[in-house]
Amino acid sequence: MPSLVTDTPEHRAVRASVAKIASKYGARYFLERGRSGGDISELWSDLGAAGLLGLHLPEEYGGGGGGMTEAVVVVEELAAHGMPMLIWVISPAICGSILAHHASEELKKEWLPGIADGTRKMAFGLTEPNAGSNSHQMSTTARRDGDGWVISGSKYYISAIDQADAILLATRDAEHSTSEKGNLSLFVIPTDAPGLTFQQIDTSIVSPDQQFTVFLDDVRVGPEALVGEAGQGLRQLFDGLNPERILVGAICSGVGRYAIKKAADYARERQVWSVPIGAHQGLAHPLAAAHIEVEVGRLATYRSAELFDAGEPAGEAANIAKYAASEASLKALDQSIQTHGGNGLSHEYGLSELWFVTRLMRSAPVSREMVLNFVAQNCLGLPRSY
Ligand SMILES: Cc1cc2nc3c(=O)[nH]c(=O)nc-3n(C[C@H](O)[C@H](O)[C@H](O)COP(=O)(O)OP(=O)(O)OC[C@H]3O[C@@H](n4cnc5c(N)ncnc54)[C@H](O)[C@@H]3O)c2cc1C
Repeated sequence: MPSLVTDTPEHRAVRASVAKIASKYGARYFLERGRSGGDISELWSDLGAAGLLGLHLPEEYGGGGGGMTEAVVVVEELAAHGMPMLIWVISPAICGSILAHHASEELKKEWLPGIADGTRKMAFGLTEPNAGSNSHQMSTTARRDGDGWVISGSKYYISAIDQADAILLATRDAEHSTSEKGNLSLFVIPTDAPGLTFQQIDTSIVSPDQQFTVFLDDVRVGPEALVGEAGQGLRQLFDGLNPERILVGAICSGVGRYAIKKAADYARERQVWSVPIGAHQGLAHPLAAAHIEVEVGRLATYRSAELFDAGEPAGEAANIAKYAASEASLKALDQSIQTHGGNGLSHEYGLSELWFVTRLMRSAPVSREMVLNFVAQNCLGLPRSY
């Protein structure tokens, strides 16, 4: 389909490489695995072997030496083949980016090559049951213990920790915090560390990546587990949160493209009166409008990735991209389901099962309201209500 986003020759090659692997498995494989809670490690390994998990990571640690734009191309193209991959956003994007910017040489050497080639995965633990969107209220605490730390607390909605070798965990650092102000420290903790357990949260989301509550009961870590400087975790987190928003824009852009392509193909073929259903403006106009909104979301997503890669402030653009693309993808998916009539709800057409994973992007990783708060305060200079 014609697009407003113009690819460089390199990006076209990356897209082709993703498309080849995605087509080998197909959306049906991905959704079946999602439905049964099955794993997609063969697909993940293929992506890793083709260099498609670490394009944005530094070459000296096994990455491709590219930027967020290359990551957007991969994640968007996977979703455009019916494979919206949460784990891509979490392990290579958030954890990979934070480690590449802030971790010690030892941690980088230990984790980045495996994250880039797909042999290792890392979960990301920020959200807590009692803090939610307000991470400043975090109560999972790291206390000094000899030359290391002891960590206790809990996190919820932690994606894919069952598949991960370690978790990048945000904690309140007891030594660097006061009762008025909490300062954070980040740690890389193996998922088999004594005292770390997790329990699945049942959700409606059809995805190979499940959600978990994570419990930390006096988990001991040595000095080597600390990422960057103790007490500086909030600043370090920001190097992962803009990539997270940008790549949610990419996932949603891909889902939007997938939904619209399927709807347009179906509407050209399906005929119930004398003309194909796509000839009825009642179907054609909402699809055209959905396409426009998906393209606008894509443009915002690519622009935010470019700003990020240029080292420019990208917070505003990343939030706008996340908002625009996530709202557009939901509308596009809904209209595609509508275009398919009853078939929109059958497994065979691979649409309705994407509903909850797409709907999720309105609530997480940052909710629509928190994006609007950011824009109201930072772009419009309006006062903060909370
Ligand atoms: C499928 C899934 C996967 C996830 N994966 C991860 C993960 O891997 N790691 C991780 O750390 N977290 C993860 N999360 C957590 C996610 O980031 C949080 O759900 C999200 O930040 C919102 O927090 P909450 O669910 O506690 O909602 P709350 O913070 O309780 O918010 C509830 C509602 O109140 C609104 N609200 C709250 N404060 C304000 C305000 N000041 N102004 C206006 N409205 C407000 C919110 O927008 C929301 O609509 C995941 C969540 C889901 C659903």
